[in-house]
Amino acid sequence: MFADVIIDIQHEKLDKIFQYRIPEELEDKLTPGMEVVVPFGSGNRQIKGYVTGICETCDYDLSKVKNIISISERGVEIETKLIALAAWMKENYGGTMIQALKTVLPIKQKERAKVKKRIRFLLDKETGERQLSYYLEKNQKARARLMAALLDDPVLEYGLVTKKLNITLPVIRALEEQGVLVLESRQVFRDPVKKTGRAEKEITFTEEQRRIIRAFRKDYEAGLRKTYLIHGVTGSGKTEVYMEMIRTVVEQGKQAIVLIPEIALTYQTVMRFYRKFGDRVSIMNSRLSAGERYDQMMRAREGKVDVMIGPRSALFTPFPDLGLIVIDEEHEPTYKSEQTPRYHARETAIRRAEMEQAGVVLGSATPSMEAMYRARRGEYILFEMKNRSRMQQMAEVYTVDMRAELKSGNRSILSRRLQELIQDRLEKGEQTMLFLNRRGYSGFVSCRECGHVIKCPHCDVSLSVHRDGTMRCHYCGYEQPRVTACPECGSHYIGEFRAGTQQIEDIVKESYPGAHVLRMDTDTTRSKDAHEKILSAFANEEADILVGTQMIVKGHDFPNVTLVGVLAADMSLYTSDYRSGERTFQLLTQAVGRAGRGERPGKAVIQTYDPGHYAIVTAAAQDYGAFYEEEIRYRELMGYPPAEHLLAVLVSGEDEALLEKGCRYLKEYIIRLASKAGHLREVRVIGPASPGIDKIKDIYRRVIYIKTERYKTLVGIKDRVEQYIDINPGFDRMRIQFDFNPM
Ligand code: ADP
Ligand code: ZN
Ligand code: ZN
Repeated sequence: MFADVIIDIQHEKLDKIFQYRIPEELEDKLTPGMEVVVPFGSGNRQIKGYVTGICETCDYDLSKVKNIISISERGVEIETKLIALAAWMKENYGGTMIQALKTVLPIKQKERAKVKKRIRFLLDKETGERQLSYYLEKNQKARARLMAALLDDPVLEYGLVTKKLNITLPVIRALEEQGVLVLESRQVFRDPVKKTGRAEKEITFTEEQRRIIRAFRKDYEAGLRKTYLIHGVTGSGKTEVYMEMIRTVVEQGKQAIVLIPEIALTYQTVMRFYRKFGDRVSIMNSRLSAGERYDQMMRAREGKVDVMIGPRSALFTPFPDLGLIVIDEEHEPTYKSEQTPRYHARETAIRRAEMEQAGVVLGSATPSMEAMYRARRGEYILFEMKNRSRMQQMAEVYTVDMRAELKSGNRSILSRRLQELIQDRLEKGEQTMLFLNRRGYSGFVSCRECGHVIKCPHCDVSLSVHRDGTMRCHYCGYEQPRVTACPECGSHYIGEFRAGTQQIEDIVKESYPGAHVLRMDTDTTRSKDAHEKILSAFANEEADILVGTQMIVKGHDFPNVTLVGVLAADMSLYTSDYRSGERTFQLLTQAVGRAGRGERPGKAVIQTYDPGHYAIVTAAAQDYGAFYEEEIRYRELMGYPPAEHLLAVLVSGEDEALLEKGCRYLKEYIIRLASKAGHLREVRVIGPASPGIDKIKDIYRRVIYIKTERYKTLVGIKDRVEQYIDINPGFDRMRIQFDFNPM
């Protein structure tokens, strides 16, 4: 037996794995992750390394392979646990061990020290408070927000102020001129943690909250480690529950990881954790440099923090004694990695927790089918929170059939109901959000005579018309002038159909000339900070109506929004994806949840061409249970996850003919494998099919799907396919990736 051993796990490249022979007496003891002592280099210096894999064959000259000396005597280190987790990920999601190690281990990178800008408060508390009430009186909201923050903490990091507080440089400059603050630059130690003085306000837990906290504590103190799913409507107080659970764990000297989708990682959320746990909290986000991320990881490793908050990658925080992993908004697709290994954070968290005796808490207003399915089968403990903590009412929802609108003569993209309600909000000085499930000025260009659609020559997707008169590809950026005649039949009846956010903005501006309208989509948020600027302008009530794509429905609280309009609710139903019903239900529920977060009750209008579709009916009724019942029946009938497991084998390459041939061979091989193992009846092989887009940047793509009830069967197939493509010529000119239960 031989072991793969990695010597330097902090190195940027992290790709040197050495093979050693396992002495007989260690054969039964050695597992991936273990720290071992090995002879290294020409002098056979004794150094430590980590085992990353065990195999029966050796790739090197056997006479030169050295023996492992011993298993390290030290206690189990966190690296050992993470390497074992990496081995599990490689096994269950495919890819190489190196790829898995790079995903889980904090890797040091060389980097220059950063120059950071900070804002320092110059006034005393009393003057500051007077100034604050002055700003509030004058309705200068940005200034008031900055002042309030400075009263909390006299030194603020510039990035935090602009990005999380949504305050622009001119506002900072203005306050600097007034002598309120000074903007200073200095070289700082990389430490993004914000400290704040004010303690969290005391709340009395609701009965729903208390029940969950009590049950969790009872389990935890009895040494039981479980996975819990909290299904709680938005605003039901889930975050308060998480924090209380974390407190239980931290009081026992353990640490906690909180995963939150990046888009929901707002200033308000982060501040709530700081107030509760002070500087024992650390934040991870994509704005941190690699060096800052590494520093955060090391602080965690050294026991300097108790709570790490961040998106998916924070799951691998090297805490020495992990007690709890919380995954908020557990249904979000961003928890699935798009790079090999294509792991899902939920499953990986549960695995990590199992290996380290930690608990897992999942939370969502619209739990994923996977999580609810497992909860209902008793694998997770299910908790329900049905009421908003401060007893605000849920929005009143109207569903409008747009076909009927057209029949009765309304050709506008806005239904009459929505028009009336917008008018009413404008008169009352309340705000409206209009949500469109789509980007760009307009959709594809097609010929009304022959049906020809203008496509990108590289990507096989339709081009979109932009206002500057060009047609563009959303995948590769290809651009060409707009056509006036059909290239196929010469007809002049060629044009773009369907509305985009820009067109809606124009229509709204035309219909309500006095209204201030903002638009947020990928086109208006391309520049740095644009995203935050638009949101802060809307939060400051500088606009009456916000038009946007799905990026407006997440993670933001606008108390003055009392109307949400969902235009073309069913557009997300027509993607070629078995999760489209689930995505639609989640998006609609989130959108509807945006209305009436403040004191006043909200209304929502869902416009659709398919008012009978269960995803729309159940979202309008805000009835998760009914949606789940329908959806799970469909998944069971079709054999889709979570009822069964699905493996997508993505095959890509430049040579289309070779790709077709390779896919045929692969499919036959997989069928042979299944029948040999006697699994043919339960394994279904589908394809090769189009993965939606057949070609990206001149690389052709195909996908083969394999469905079966047992995950292990899929893992077995993956292992054999990896070996098969290794030894068969031709496959070296193709790229093969595995995606388990793709999203
Ligand atoms: P969720 O995470 O479920 O959306 P939050 O925990 O963010 O809910 O709670 C929503 C708001 O209600 C927050 O401002 C929170 O401070 C407040 N809140 C939560 N629980 C209570 C409570 N028991 N009493 C008063 N306010 C509460
Ligand atoms: Zn034509
Ligand atoms: Zn393209």
